[in-house]
Amino acid sequence: MRTLDDLLAEGVSGRRVLVRADLNVPLGSDDGVDRITDDGRIRASLPTIRRLAEAGARVVVTAHLGRPKGAPDPTYSLEPVAARLGELLGTAVPLAGDLVGDSARSTVDGLADGGVALLENVRFDARETSKDDAERAALAVELAALVGESGVFVSDGFGVVHRKQASVFDVARALPGYAGGLVLAELEVLRRLTGTPDRPYVVVLGGSKVSDKLAVIESLLPKVDRLLVGGGMCFTFMAAEGLGVGDSLLEADMIDTCKRLLAESGDKIVLPADVVIADKFAADASTESVPAERLREGWMGLDIGSTTAERYGEVLAGAGTVFWNGPMGVFELAPFAEGTRAVARSIVDSDAYSVVGGGDSAAAVRALGLPEDGFSHISTGGGASLEFLEGKELPGIAVLEGS
Ligand code: ADP
Ligand code: MG
Repeated sequence: MRTLDDLLAEGVSGRRVLVRADLNVPLGSDDGVDRITDDGRIRASLPTIRRLAEAGARVVVTAHLGRPKGAPDPTYSLEPVAARLGELLGTAVPLAGDLVGDSARSTVDGLADGGVALLENVRFDARETSKDDAERAALAVELAALVGESGVFVSDGFGVVHRKQASVFDVARALPGYAGGLVLAELEVLRRLTGTPDRPYVVVLGGSKVSDKLAVIESLLPKVDRLLVGGGMCFTFMAAEGLGVGDSLLEADMIDTCKRLLAESGDKIVLPADVVIADKFAADASTESVPAERLREGWMGLDIGSTTAERYGEVLAGAGTVFWNGPMGVFELAPFAEGTRAVARSIVDSDAYSVVGGGDSAAAVRALGLPEDGFSHISTGGGASLEFLEGKELPGIAVLEGS
């Protein structure tokens, strides 16, 4: 697989380089104006862009934001992202008004050596995510045309490498492809987890749904020493143990699967001993902390309790390697953030090699004020890191290995 270093050794001065970055940041608004609530992914994309620009490349960045329906939609414009990227780079980053049209062409033509431009949301073009190979290939050819004869492609959007999409996969066939610095760094970390991790290897899983994470649970269980479960998914496991879960998040069709996992690996799976329950899903709900067996009708579990957080903390303190994916509770609402904060704090305090994967988990680290450098690595790709850990082939990586 050719890398960014190989490309820089070849020389990029004056050449146009198409960079696929993952700039899909959360936007929030409390006054009608959309603002970036967590710019972690933009910051993670900077080193590769900077190295190319400093080497004199004309950097053309392509990225997506949210899930527009394959047509231009101002709600999902990359405008705030271009502004933030420019601030962080310390140079204006012009945003093309389209993806591969007149505006994109003239924006790219206007780039000087060392300049950086951003193309408008790649998902404004339905071909980006098309299941039809020919449609995707056609868009890839148009993207490639923007960077011309001596142009190359740098794949640096780790958060999207598990997607077989035009700007991730097909474009690496239309142009010489190179793995960017972020993609390489993420792969190195994940290989450490799938190789021979220092033991005990403890995985903390939370988040909303078991069904999202079932595949990774199945493939991790044989490799880990302990699986600490929290978040919305713990209630389906608790139901599998015969406990009532009240109005908590429950995936009834997953109960049998959870029963099987508990029967096969019950010695490794640890479930909450106590939970924080609420009478509604809101910051001003009435709340109570109860033993897991006392969750009752009319109440929903929105966080792990303090006894659970303490027990998980003891396991984490002795861990050699930790992988954490998925918040322990609804951390976005203050009354239900403590479990996630406590578990994250335990990971920070342990000497383990620690990796955080998952968009919401990474956002939680920053939102709850934990030091980012307290973790060995915070992955920018939730889905991509989970698929890697499951042992699946990542199309955006495979295509680079094949070229
Ligand atoms: P990640 O992005 O880190 O992989 P997920 O997307 O799987 O994590 O899940 C994150 C979401 O799970 C958060 O928005 C959080 O509010 C929600 N969540 C956590 N615990 C619960 C719970 N007990 N009930 C409902 N939702 C929960
Ligand atoms: Mg998420």
